Amino acid sequence: MAIKYFPEPFRIKSVEPLRMLSREEREARLVAAKYNLFGLKGEDCYIDLLTDSGTGAMSAEQWAGIMRGDEAYAGAASYDKLVGTARDIFGYDYVQPVHQGRAAEKVLFPLLLSSGKVAISNMFFDTTRAHVELAGARCIDCVVEAARRPADRASFKGNMDVARLEQLLREYGPERVGLIVMTITNNSAGGQPVSMRNLREVSALAGRYGIPVCIDAARYAENAYFIQRDETGYQDVPISRIVREMFSHADFFTMSAKKDAIVNMGGLLGVRDGASGLIQGIKANCISYEGFYTYGGLSGRDMEALAIGLREGIDENYLRYRIGQMEYLGGLLDQADIAYQAPAGGHGIFVDAAALLPHIHYTEYPGQVLAIELYREAGIRSCDIGSYMLGNDPDTGEQLQASFEFTRLAIPRRVYTQAHLDVVAEALAEIKHRAHQIRRGYRITWEPPILRHFQSSLEPIAA
Ligand SMILES: *Cc1c(COP(=O)(O)O)cnc(C)c1O
Repeated sequence: MAIKYFPEPFRIKSVEPLRMLSREEREARLVAAKYNLFGLKGEDCYIDLLTDSGTGAMSAEQWAGIMRGDEAYAGAASYDKLVGTARDIFGYDYVQPVHQGRAAEKVLFPLLLSSGKVAISNMFFDTTRAHVELAGARCIDCVVEAARRPADRASFKGNMDVARLEQLLREYGPERVGLIVMTITNNSAGGQPVSMRNLREVSALAGRYGIPVCIDAARYAENAYFIQRDETGYQDVPISRIVREMFSHADFFTMSAKKDAIVNMGGLLGVRDGASGLIQGIKANCISYEGFYTYGGLSGRDMEALAIGLREGIDENYLRYRIGQMEYLGGLLDQADIAYQAPAGGHGIFVDAAALLPHIHYTEYPGQVLAIELYREAGIRSCDIGSYMLGNDPDTGEQLQASFEFTRLAIPRRVYTQAHLDVVAEALAEIKHRAHQIRRGYRITWEPPILRHFQSSLEPIAA
């Protein structure tokens, strides 16, 4: 049966040629990269699904904005335009531009967290986890159980487990819990959305304990689309109103603008209450780490393009096409009987590598094994979201076992076509066919102490 593909609400004005290396060339590139896909050159990838971060295609309007950017050091018009747009969309009093999402984390977290404290999240993204730990605190993931069952097609599998959160708050007490982070959509759990009800409940609970809530907002627009599509009572509410309501349930947001704001570089930090005592600290940290607070590590043209991208990212026709791409690819995998974190999430398909390669132990990194096979098979670059990415316990140094072993196919925004998605599904079906011949995984021969998956070296374990 044919699977529905929502047509692109745009046409193509500028194209970039792709090339496909031979199988022998791809094999040589893998060896040279020490089996770390971050070590490959972009031009050696036929379809690059490593990330949806900063890889989107800007619109003609955004490129026009690049020319209009005001490069004044302080008080640029592009800064005013960006802050005005962001305040209007999110309803927050203070908005700080920064160069990307992790910069917002670096500026904000040390003001809220320190040694001995914990931060609790539905699920921390890797850089967010790193910045909590760099601030001296520890991370606790508290996602609903359904997230750990890829075949369970429940809606809002990105939610916080509210009962467990309450238990944790009682156990640690308000003195030790410095922050609650709501990651929307829940990236590491497969781009799974968080419901409005869950945001409301977490915010009420946090309020009772006097703990601040921060939205990790990289994919807030995709999350809003899922609320409109799937949550009772929101079918007729415009995305812009849903966004306002979502953000009303937090005190801060940190945002990588490289995702739903469709720019190649940028980030934001928001503070809901203009009277917050933290704004001065945010400005001070920003000046030290990022640049003066009216540009925060961005050039004027970046801020101009970001202001435009914020609006384009919440357009309902765009979001229907965007989420439609995930549903289409998910549908192709259903037909090939390939398991993934279902239903399809917002920014990619997270293939259940543990189900495809059940004989590969987590200490040999099934998600990384499948990612390497995809490159070998068709020049498709993806990445592991599993034990390989999770790394070692910061206290004991032992390899942690992730809740799942995914190979993430992150889909860049407005970049690839229906036929590209067909190629991806065909390559996966081919690998599934020969999966029993893939006997062993990989071992790490070198790794840095933190965020290891970006840099580590691997080698295949002999069968
Ligand atoms: C990408 C991302 C970040 C970090 O943002 P960068 O722009 O890559 O620094 C933080 N949280 C989530 C959920 C993300 O997806």
